[in-house]
Amino acid sequence: MNISRKEFLKSATAVAGILSAQKIFSQNPRPNRPANPGSSPKTAIVLGGGLSGLYSAYLLNKTGIKVTVIEANKRMGGRIFSFSDADSNVTSELGGEWISDSHRNIKSVIRELDLKTIAHNVKPEFSIGTGNKSNPAGELSEKSKNLLQKVSGLYRNMGATQKRGLDKLDLFGYLRYQGIEKNDLELMNLRFSGYYGENISHVSASRALSDIPDLENSYSIRNRISGGSSALILALQEKLKDSEIISGDPVTEISQDQLSVTVKTLQARIITADICICAIPANVISDISWTPELPKEKKLSALQLGYSRISKLSFNVSSETTGLKNFQITGNSPVRFLYPASDLNSGQQTISATAIGDLSEIFAGSGADEKKAFLEECIARVGMSANAQISGITGIAWQDEPYIRGGIALFSPGSFDIQSNLRKPFNRVFFAGEHLASQPGSMEAAITSAIEAVNSI
Ligand SMILES: Cc1cc2nc3c(=O)[nH]c(=O)nc-3n(C[C@H](O)[C@H](O)[C@H](O)COP(=O)(O)OP(=O)(O)OC[C@H]3O[C@@H](n4cnc5c(N)ncnc54)[C@H](O)[C@@H]3O)c2cc1C
Repeated sequence: MNISRKEFLKSATAVAGILSAQKIFSQNPRPNRPANPGSSPKTAIVLGGGLSGLYSAYLLNKTGIKVTVIEANKRMGGRIFSFSDADSNVTSELGGEWISDSHRNIKSVIRELDLKTIAHNVKPEFSIGTGNKSNPAGELSEKSKNLLQKVSGLYRNMGATQKRGLDKLDLFGYLRYQGIEKNDLELMNLRFSGYYGENISHVSASRALSDIPDLENSYSIRNRISGGSSALILALQEKLKDSEIISGDPVTEISQDQLSVTVKTLQARIITADICICAIPANVISDISWTPELPKEKKLSALQLGYSRISKLSFNVSSETTGLKNFQITGNSPVRFLYPASDLNSGQQTISATAIGDLSEIFAGSGADEKKAFLEECIARVGMSANAQISGITGIAWQDEPYIRGGIALFSPGSFDIQSNLRKPFNRVFFAGEHLASQPGSMEAAITSAIEAVNSI
């Protein structure tokens, strides 16, 4: 079920617009409520200082609940990480960046926190092969367009059993079987891999067909947060001034009974509260020792959920580089996406590049000179200067981050029940994170999951 932030706030807002704990926690009792539903929680622990954790803490705080946020890394923000380059003075995003028009919840949070967005109105171009921009608009043939429309129509009318059956296939194989032509398959792979962070042969056909409307919108006008996505993290932290925020100390143990939840950290902190929101990626949940043990279906689903491999880089190019204008290129060179880190109207020359899948591993494993050579090749290959002087390469391979271990949640074939299993509360522990909401893999999903987690308490 999708609950918008508006609906949550409407259901939670007491007289005079002030959120009250009583109001939230006395409404709509749910089957998975904590064991002691008579009393409203007064204290909460939030695991994870990414967007979903901080926004959960913000919502809980608004209801008068005292919150302790615990983040494993020293840096808050998780997969939101704005990097400011000292030479070019340009901020680039190493994680979450684009907000599309359909991302209503995050847009509303941005407004509430007095932040602004900047539209990036650049027409995307697609490039297959060396300098090949024969179809820069990435238009599918009429035949493929009609086929795509047909299969998404078929999907809408399928029952759960048929959808489950389709979940055994990957999207690439399924589209090929449906008769989509080779060139169009390549193009669709380029287009959709921006959404999934992997090639579409890694994505469940059932999952992807339910995403078709979002997939089609993902290249429409997109916005960035003015000052960088980390401005959102800082603004939330600012709002949590009266809460305790612990960073650089991973949680290692969680135990709970009828009355409370206790967590222990690597640095031997012990914190007890009435409830806990666990807002960490599914693939690190089993690093924590749980008492009682996590339900088997949840453990298994956490193991089954894949994570895409994404390296995001930023680099400077010399001002002599010719032909540099606003651009957004998706191609099948070693990096899949290339675009300026901010609109190119001030002569700055910082470029963002993203490599996915096996190529992300290659980037992650290569030295500075190799990375430079790859990037030179990519720039030349998409038709920009062959002699660009590249410097200041920085970046993150998200699959190598120890407390995140992946780019974004990836629903591969066989993942039909995963999301609902992972979303279920476990006694006094509730779950949030981008992997749990619709449009997973987005900042929108992180916000939506926090609303849903707090609403389910
Ligand atoms: C390269 C890249 C590009 C992206 N681009 C976009 C985009 O353009 N638009 C968009 O909307 N979204 C984008 N996303 C997705 C978006 O960034 C994420 O969906 C969102 O930030 C996830 O937030 P989260 O809170 O669910 O998880 P996270 O940000 O991963 O937060 C989880 C936190 O839990 C912490 N943690 C883990 N284990 C423990 C422990 N034991 N104890 C304490 N803390 C722990 C982690 O350190 C982490 O900080 C992108 C992601 C990546 C990686």
